[in-house]
Amino acid sequence: MSLPKHPNNLQDPTIDYPDIDLSKALRDHSDAEVEGEFSRIAYLQNEEMAILETSEPAYYEVRVTPMDHDEFWLSGQLDAKVMQECARCLRPVAVELSLELGTLLRFNPKVETPFLEQDDAGQEIWIFNNSNLELSPYFAETLLIGLPMSILHDPNCKGLCMTCGQDLNERTCEHNQAVKIVPLEEQEEAARKNPFAALKGLDLPDE
Ligand SMILES: [Zn+2]
Ligand SMILES: [Zn+2]
Repeated sequence: MSLPKHPNNLQDPTIDYPDIDLSKALRDHSDAEVEGEFSRIAYLQNEEMAILETSEPAYYEVRVTPMDHDEFWLSGQLDAKVMQECARCLRPVAVELSLELGTLLRFNPKVETPFLEQDDAGQEIWIFNNSNLELSPYFAETLLIGLPMSILHDPNCKGLCMTCGQDLNERTCEHNQAVKIVPLEEQEEAARKNPFAALKGLDLPDE
């Protein structure tokens, strides 16, 4: 995942652009802090603009502390309810996340676009090139990584019918109810040929 271009030229009033001013941190090696809220943020995924939406405003607190050389430590807190789809029935689900932030930043004015790098030890470093650091891609990445692997609107979600797409939580459909009932004569016939075939009858539902 990479950072989008500075969004000023494509400013969309429905999208929030959280950022932090690091000019003093870069100049005087002093801490920078910002807090705020967002509901919709934009980020780039596979070079396409993607939107991450929260069901109510997400709250963030970010502190950037200068370290040695051109490196900074970003810490803070991010609380958000992210809209996702139930993995089985696709209805929207608000997933509540409360995440502690902690990431290394490195200032490099020579890079064209900010990006996320992994050092030899596997630690992630955000390389940034501007004293105004866009936080959207960082927040989006942090939230997406923080999501549980399997999201269900209800642990007992019945999902969708594979044939007609009916939401089986609402009602059953003919496909779901269709239980293969073998006529009695055929069962007896099969039982004569193969005594074990009769046991297949035990697979039928109890009703
Ligand atoms: Zn569901
Ligand atoms: Zn169906």
